[in-house]
Amino acid sequence: MSEICIDCWNKYMETTDKPRKFLMSRVPELCEDCGQYKRVIIRYRLHSILLDRITEMVEDVRCQRKR
Ligand SMILES: [Zn+2]
Repeated sequence: MSEICIDCWNKYMETTDKPRKFLMSRVPELCEDCGQYKRVIIRYRLHSILLDRITEMVEDVRCQRKR
């Protein structure tokens, strides 16, 4: 399962969501986008479908970087 921090979430979604809107990890984990240890979004409480979509987008970007 891909996990991203709130900063990366806001960057990709162009939002300024606050961490309390999400279920965040209790301890810092590796954000799969910025590569830093931060509290990451485990599950978006209201729009888990959106998180699935952002996960796909992040993986697309990572694939493009490898080329
Ligand atoms: Zn991040």
